[in-house]
This record gives sequence, C-alpha cells and structure tokens, in this order.
Amino acid sequence: MPFTEIVGHQKQLEVLGRSLEGNRLHHAYLFLGPDGVGKRTVALSLAAVIHCSFGNHDSCGRCETCLSIRDGNHPDVRVIKPEPGKREITIRQMRDLQRQLEFRSFSGKKKIAIIDPAHLMNIPAQNSLLKTLEDPPGDALLILISNNTASLLSTVLSRCLRLYFSFISVEETAGFLEGRKGIAPEKAKLLAALTGGSLGEALNCDENKLLDQRKRWIERFSSLSQGNHRGVMALAEEMAADRELSLQVVQWVEGWYRDILIHQMTGPEGEIRNTDMGEKIHEAASTHPFKHTLSVLSWIGRVKGELQRNYNRRLILENFLIKLVDRNPCGPGAVPT
Ligand SMILES: [Zn+2]
Repeated sequence: MPFTEIVGHQKQLEVLGRSLEGNRLHHAYLFLGPDGVGKRTVALSLAAVIHCSFGNHDSCGRCETCLSIRDGNHPDVRVIKPEPGKREITIRQMRDLQRQLEFRSFSGKKKIAIIDPAHLMNIPAQNSLLKTLEDPPGDALLILISNNTASLLSTVLSRCLRLYFSFISVEETAGFLEGRKGIAPEKAKLLAALTGGSLGEALNCDENKLLDQRKRWIERFSSLSQGNHRGVMALAEEMAADRELSLQVVQWVEGWYRDILIHQMTGPEGEIRNTDMGEKIHEAASTHPFKHTLSVLSWIGRVKGELQRNYNRRLILENFLIKLVDRNPCGPGAVPT
C-alpha cells in the first residue's frame, strides 16, 4: 500500500520518508505499539517503497513488485512469524534468516525481514538475531514489530531504532470513512466511535450488532451499585475472558466519558462521538462533577495500557470497576443512563 493511502501514523511515515530520501535508513527498526494499529502495514509499505518498479517517493501499489510484497511472495521481503502450530519464533528460523541475508538480493535492492511479533522470539532466537544486528549485511533491513519491550533482550533493543505507533484517532477514522468511503458524516462519526478508531473494524463491522452489544454492556455497567463487589467481580470475570472484548468495552466506556467531558467543557453544541446517545450524555454531564469525569478518563488510560501489555486482565478490571462504582459521586450505577 502506498504511504499516501495509509490512514494515520503521519509522523512515523514522515520519519521513514525523510530517511528514505536522504538514503539514511537505519539497518534495524523496532515498530512498537498496540496490536491492530497497522504496524505491519507500514512495514510492508516501506518495503514496497524501496522495491516498487514505478514509484518515485512512494510505491505505486499496483505493479507486480508491489502486489508480490503485499501477498508475501517477493523473494527479497520476508515476514517471519511462528511456524504453524508453534508459539515461538525459533533459533532455526533466525539461522535461516542469517543464511538468506548473506546472499545478494534478487532485485539488487534491499533485503527486508519483518519479524512479527518480535516478542515471540525465544531467547536463543534473539541471541542469534543479535549477531545479525551487530554485523548486518549492507543491503539488509530488519523491522521488528512488537506490542511491548519486556520480552526483548536489552542488547536487541539497543540496536534497533524505535518508532512508536498508537491507535488512529477516532477523528482520523471518521474522516477516512467520510472522505474516501463516502459514508455520511453522522454515521462515520458513530462508526468510528463504536470501533474505537479501528479502521479495519469500522469498514467491516455490522453497525447494528455493535450498537446492540454496546447497549447491553452499558446496561450491565449501569446495574452495578456502590458496594456491590460481587457484581463487579462477576462482570470483571466475564470481560476478562476475552482480551479484545475487554478492550472494546473499556473503549466504549472511555468514549462515553469523553463525550461527557466534551459536553461539560463546551456545552450541548460540543462535538460528541456517541451521537445516538446525545440526551443521556447531556443528563450525565449535568450530574457528574467535572473532576470525577477527569479522574475516570485517567483511570481508563491506565487500564487500557495495562490490558494491552497483557497483565492479569481480571485483576485490572476488578480494580477499575471497584473504583468506578465506589467513587461515583452520583450514587449507584457506574455508567449513568
Ligand atoms: Zn509498484
């Protein structure tokens, strides 16, 4: 995919674009950030810019080279992941990679290896990779992709240039849906809010199903009352069973409180995302103290980070929900309805 077609990540693309133009590309990068935000897309797009037969400062996205990189068939661009049925990237895979990097590239351009997810390399594999990182063949480009640094050796980390990726903003997603997909502005905003800014999901989701799910979860949240820790634990356990679901629900609650904050700061004319719940947000904004809204949003920021780093989900959610219900100055109900 050409750089110009990537939604979001503009800062990262500029950094890479400038390095490409100045022929100053580093030999090893670590693309760091939450799962599902498009790190691999950017890595493959970088490979395409380097190899495309027709592009100048960007890839064309249509030539045989671009298509073979997209489809994983280009001889100079490899994606290394755990083999089928395996949970780790092994030393054997890293030795294979080393051997391949020793040969000249087929195209005369760079040989690119994308290791995704890099945190699944076991320790012997990382030590083996270290040799390549310490003495890389001149035409090699290594891109490690990961959602955390905790599982990577410091010696590996110190030899990679880090680029940080985060979620595409809801505004960017809504802008894309509206501008390039021709979706009506109100619907684009709502879809982006429902999917927490995940473009792939916004394009493929069943809007009505998502609306139903959100309604059901918000009702579950609202039914919690102060001191009902048994209810909190049951809800935390149910959410924790599924990582994606827990992140999704937390994002919905964040979207809800963000709208309350917008309403409190700018009044009813503020641009809320949950456009189908305007009246409820208006009510909540008038009963919730501003300071409490800010506190909840800061707790949510922390919870999202912890969930993404795969800490104990049930504990994280229990702590969060207990704070949400016990410190809610508006009485019962963690989420106002
Ligand atoms: Zn091309």
